[in-house]
Parts: sequence; structure tokens; C-alpha cells
Amino acid sequence: MQQFLLLLSYLIGSITFIIGLKMLSHPDKARRGNLIAAAGMGIAIFATIFLYRIPNTGAHLHNFGWIFIALLIGTITGTLTARKVQMTKMPEMVSLFNGMGGACAMLISLIEYHDDALPPAGKLTVIVLGMLIGTVSFAGSIIAWGKLNGKINDHTIPAGQMVNFLLLGGMVVMAVMLIGGFSTSPYLFYGILVLAALYGILFVMPIGGADMPVVISLLNSFTGVAAAFGGFLYNNPVMLTGGILVGSAGTILTILMCKAMNRSLKNVLIGSFGGQKPGASTGTKEQGNYKEISLNDTATIMAYAQKVMIIPGYGLAVAQAQHACHELEKVLEDKGVEVSYGIHPVAGRMPGHMNVLLAEADVPYEKLLEMEDANAQMGTTNVVMIIGANDVVNPAAKEDPASPIFGMPILEVEKAGHVIVNKRSMKPGYAGIENDLFFKPKTSMLFGDAKKVLQDLVTELKQV
Ligand code: NDP
Repeated sequence: MQQFLLLLSYLIGSITFIIGLKMLSHPDKARRGNLIAAAGMGIAIFATIFLYRIPNTGAHLHNFGWIFIALLIGTITGTLTARKVQMTKMPEMVSLFNGMGGACAMLISLIEYHDDALPPAGKLTVIVLGMLIGTVSFAGSIIAWGKLNGKINDHTIPAGQMVNFLLLGGMVVMAVMLIGGFSTSPYLFYGILVLAALYGILFVMPIGGADMPVVISLLNSFTGVAAAFGGFLYNNPVMLTGGILVGSAGTILTILMCKAMNRSLKNVLIGSFGGQKPGASTGTKEQGNYKEISLNDTATIMAYAQKVMIIPGYGLAVAQAQHACHELEKVLEDKGVEVSYGIHPVAGRMPGHMNVLLAEADVPYEKLLEMEDANAQMGTTNVVMIIGANDVVNPAAKEDPASPIFGMPILEVEKAGHVIVNKRSMKPGYAGIENDLFFKPKTSMLFGDAKKVLQDLVTELKQV
């Protein structure tokens, strides 16, 4: 009976995980989906604690004190950090939590190897792969976390690609020696651990420019795969399902991100992308003059437009201007203007950042246009209003082969009638490069904090 209940709770855990994941693909249902998956996972965790029997002895788990202290620490830390974290710091938190998942997979492998240093080849393969992938994910995620919060700078490693290949080669040779039974030395096992940690660090360290989203989702998929190996090891269906789902969802996201950033997966896997290319533009070249526009003129141009497209970016999230932005949309629509939003897949600092932000302000989902659709409508749009976006509208991605963002598809705002850019200064965005768009004849700069500017613009518009 207990075994049946345990399997039933694993089934519930797996099903809720799949339902939750499906719901996460729509901003309206994402919150509920997250709760459903978390509830299912909670059921699976408590069923394991109380119903699981240790295979050889048939005994229940003990050490409840340690288990519940660890659960309590994890729950309190997770809840407090998730409650406190600002929306703009989410990618850092995701990286850190993802790193913890990798560390868990690594620890599981270490403990299993420690308990059974001479396991059969099949089990040893699973232990080694779980440890290797978990360690790469842990080390890489910690570096990604440091880079996103500015504590770690981009470092180009001399002959970095070669070093990465050597590390990978070293790990493969050591794993084959260990699993193939050519040597039983534990030094091989711990050697793989050290090389995997080094690989994780060196693989993420040089990544700069605008490439972080790809690496974050790739590390996410690594953690999923490492957790799935843990599921194999313990013959635990819910851990296996969860790991496979996270691994495949992360891989699909990586492929989508690669497409959005115009990077090949091969380049990502050998850690050769990112950073400044030789001879790349530094963004210091002479750009000419830019034109400023007043709030009053902006309100007039917008009020008399037929079609306005709003392009949100990271600055909208920083300013928490999503509600003011929705207000602008409503005021314009009251005046008969057709308003839509052009969403770049890597705008902001995490996949889906703009969708989540605008959903928070109840912007109807149908108004959000994906990049291809937005670009298709650009020619018939009278005014494009860029709010706190920079890299995702930088024409250098199309025009300057030396630019670190060259090849990334962008929102082609220059095809619209007027381009109004709201930001606080002429400073560059995430990729650290200047934006020629700001100096083009069609472009006007509307300086100021996005929230304040949008609120003032709404007031002005009401008077036009
Ligand atoms: P950018 O980082 O290119 O630009 C944001 C702009 O917002 C800045 O130039 C800044 O200019 C402006 N800004 C900041 N605060 C405010 C404010 N309070 N009010 C008004 N403007 C403000 O953002 P994009 O969204 O265009 O591009 C995203 C970048 O982040 C890409 O390079 C992408 O690759 C990268 N990235 C994306 C991730 C993802 O998953 N989406 C993850 C990690 C990185 P100023 O200081 O002058 O105000």
C-alpha cells in the first residue's frame, strides 16, 4: 500500500510538473502553473520522506531532524530571497538557484561514489555524468551570477578555446579510464570534478556583450540533465521526469535564444562566442549630433498618429514603468490611435522579461507582437516609441560586421515614420556599445526616467 501511495504521489508530481510547465508558456497562467508544479513537487518530497523504503534493508528514512532543518533553511532562504528580489535582479537569482541545482546533482554523485567506490560500470557512468554536468552547471552558474551582478568582469582567456577543448578531452579520457575499468583510482573521479569546475568557470568567463541569455538557458538545461541522472541513480521517476523536462525545456529555450542572438549551438557548446571580437567597434567613434524632443511635441505627434508601436526594454523594468506604459496605451487608444508593442526575444535581462512585466500591468497579450510580426508592421507604423531599450534596436547588429552584436536580429524601427527614444542619457546598454540609431535623422531623444516621462506624457496627451 505504501509503495502504491509513493508511486501515486510521484505520478501526481510528474503530471503537475508537465501541466505547470505548459501553463508557464502563457503570462496569464504562468503564476498558477508555477504554484501547481510546486505543489506537486511538495507532495513528491513529503511522500519520499515518509513512504520511501531503503532498497536493501526495507527501512524507512530516518534522520528526520536533519531533513527538516535542511528543508526549513531552504524554504526560508528561498521565500525571503524570492520575495525581496527586484524584477531586474531575477536573472541573477535564476543563475544562483540554477547553480544550487547543479551543486545538488554534484553532491548526490559524490555521496554515491563515496558510499560505493566500485559500482558496476552502468551505475558508475550515471554517477560520473551526473557529477560532471552538475559541476559544470554549478561553477558556470556562479560565474554567470557574478557577471550579471557586476562582481565579475569579462575575461578573455588566452587560447581559451584550446584550453576548453583540452579540459573536455581530459575529462573524457579520465571518465573512459574509470568507467572502462582501466583504473579504479579515486583520483580519476576527483580529477574529473576539478576539470569540470574549471571548464564551467572558463566556459562562462569570456562571455560578454549580449550573449549571457544563451549561456544562462544552456546552464539551466545542464542542471536538468544532471538532475535526471540523479533520478536514474535512485530509480526515482519524479526526479527523472523533472530533470528531463527541465533539461529539454532549457535546451529548447537555448535553441530559441541562439536563433534570437544569431549564434550557432556549436559555438555555444565550445564556449567560443561572446566577448569583443578582434577589431570590434568600441563605440567611441564620432557619432555626430542627436536631436531632442519635448514632451509636448511627443504628445502631439503621438496623438495624431494612426499607428504607434511601443518598444520596451530593460529601462522599462528598471523604472518599473509598466503601469504608466499601459496608461499611455489606453490614453492613445481613447484618441483612436492603434497601439501595439514590439517585443524582442532578448529585451530586458531574462527570457520573456517584457511579457511578464507588461502582463503585470494587465496589457492585453494580443497587443504584444513578436519580433518578426513587429518588423512586418514597422513600415505602416507612424511612431515608434522606444522605452528603455537600446541593444535590441541597434542597427550595428545589421550594419557593422566588427560589432560584438553583429548578426543579432533587431527590431527594425528605422522603417517607421518617427522614432522617439526615451532613456536617461546617451549611455550604452548591456552590450556596452554606442547606438547609431540615436543619431539618425528620423530619431528624437526624449530624456528622463521612463516612469516619470510616461506619467508626464499621459498628462500632456490628455490636454491635446
Ligand atoms: P539595454 O541594456 O541594451 O538598454 C537598456 C537601456 O535602458 C539603457 O541604455 C539605459 O540607458 C536605459 N535605462 C536604464 N534605466 C532607465 C530608466 N530608469 N528610465 C529610462 N531608461 C532607462 O536593454 P535592451 O532591453 O535593449 O537589451 C537587452 C540586453 O540585455 C541585450 O544586450 C541582451 O542580450 C542582454 N541580456 C538579455 C537577457 C535576456 O534573457 N533577455 C539576459 C542577459 C542579458 P540610460 O542609462 O541612458 O538611461
